Amino acid sequence: MDENNVRYYSCGPTVYNNIHIGNARAFVCADLLAKVLKGIYKKVTFVSNITDIDDKIIEASVKEKISIKELSKRYFEQYKKDTKFLGIDDPDNQPFATDFIKEMIDFINVLIDKDAAYVTNGNVLFRVKSFKNYGILSERIIQEQDSGSRVDVETYKEDPNDFTLWKPSTDDEPGWESPWGLGRPGWHLECSVMSEIVLGVPFDIHGGGNDLKFPHHDNEIAQTCAYHSNESAESFAKYWFHNGFLNLDNEKMSKSLGNVVYIDDLKKNFKGNEIRLALLSTHYRQPIPWSLELLEQSKNIYQKLNREFKKYNLKELKFYKDSKVGKALLDDLNTPLAIREMQRLVSSNDSDLEENISTFKYIFEGSDQDLSIDKKLSNEIEKLIEKRNNARNNNDYEKADKIRDKLSEMNVKINDVNGKTEWEIL
Ligand SMILES: [Zn+2]
Repeated sequence: MDENNVRYYSCGPTVYNNIHIGNARAFVCADLLAKVLKGIYKKVTFVSNITDIDDKIIEASVKEKISIKELSKRYFEQYKKDTKFLGIDDPDNQPFATDFIKEMIDFINVLIDKDAAYVTNGNVLFRVKSFKNYGILSERIIQEQDSGSRVDVETYKEDPNDFTLWKPSTDDEPGWESPWGLGRPGWHLECSVMSEIVLGVPFDIHGGGNDLKFPHHDNEIAQTCAYHSNESAESFAKYWFHNGFLNLDNEKMSKSLGNVVYIDDLKKNFKGNEIRLALLSTHYRQPIPWSLELLEQSKNIYQKLNREFKKYNLKELKFYKDSKVGKALLDDLNTPLAIREMQRLVSSNDSDLEENISTFKYIFEGSDQDLSIDKKLSNEIEKLIEKRNNARNNNDYEKADKIRDKLSEMNVKINDVNGKTEWEIL
C-alpha cells in the first residue's frame, strides 16, 4: 500500500518449550519473505509477536515448577538462540502479549458495545454470528450444530463456534483485573490488538503456518473487522502468506538419530546453514517430507557450495534482484529453483557469480557455528573466571585485573553478584 513502508505481521511463538522443526519452518519462511521484501523495498516493517500468556505456558510452569515469568523468559531466550542459529533476523518489532493487556481490555469493550461480543460466566466470547464473513480465509463452512450434541463445558456459549476473548483465572493462575473479574486474554485477541497498535490497519501482509489459517487467522479477521464495523477482510490485511506443513517421519528419524525434533537437538549434528537450506529446499506452499536423508542431502549441497563461496571475499551480502537467484526468489519465493540455479552457476563459473552468491548467502545463510564451539568457549570463560577469583582471594589484584581485561577483549562482561560471578557475551 505504501512503497516507502511495507508492513508485514507474522504470528510468533508461544514461549513454553523449545522450537520444534515444524515451528522452525514457519519462522524461516516468514524470515525469507521479510528478507526478500527488504531486498527490494526501501523500508519494511516486519512485526512478529511473542505469546507469553497462554494455557500451554501455565501448564508447563506447573510441570516445571517455576513461575510463568521465568518459564516464558527461559523459552524466549531459547527461541532467540535457535532462530539466530537458523539465520533468522530479529523482527523490527516484537511485541509481548502481556505488555498489551490494557489495550486488549479496551478492544473487548468496543466489541461488547457493538454486540460482537458477550459476557457469560466470567468469560467474554466473540459472537461469530455477528460477522457475516466468518471463515472467509479458510473457506470453512460453519455448520449449524445441534446444541444437544455439545460437551458440557461449552453450554454457556450462545453458539458452539463462539470463541474466547477473555477467560477467568483462578487464584493460583496468572490474571489481570478487568471489568469481568480477574482473568486473561484469549490467544486470537492478542494479534488483532497488537497488529492494530504496532502497524495500524489495514496492513500489507499477514502470515503464519498453514495450521493457523483456521481458527486463528479467521478469528483475527472477525475481531478486527467487527472492531472497525467493516465487513471486508481486506480492511485488516491485504495479503495472506501461509507456509505448508512439515511432515515428520517420526519413526525413521528417532530410530536413526534419537530425538531430533527440536532445533536444539539438531545442533549436535548439523549447522544452522544446513538446516535452513533443508527447510527451504521445498517451495513454501508445499508440505515438506522431513527426513534425515533430506538433512544429509542439504548438508552435502551446502558444503559443496561453501567450498566455492570461500573463494570470494564478499564484504556485504545484498539482494540482487536481476541475478538468477534473485529472479527465482521474486517468482513466488521459488527457493528450490534458486538453489538449483546456484548449484548450476557454481559449476559453470558464470561471470555474474558474485552477485548470485551474495544474493544466495543473504537469503540462505544460517549460522556456520555448531554447538561444540559454543561449549568450548564457555568452558574457557568459566576457567578464566575461576582463575580471576582465585587471584582475588589471594589478594593478587593485578593478576585478577589482567584476566578481567582479557575477558573484556573477548567481549565477555562479568558481574559479581552475592559472591558469585555471572558472565555474558556482549
Ligand atoms: Zn496471530
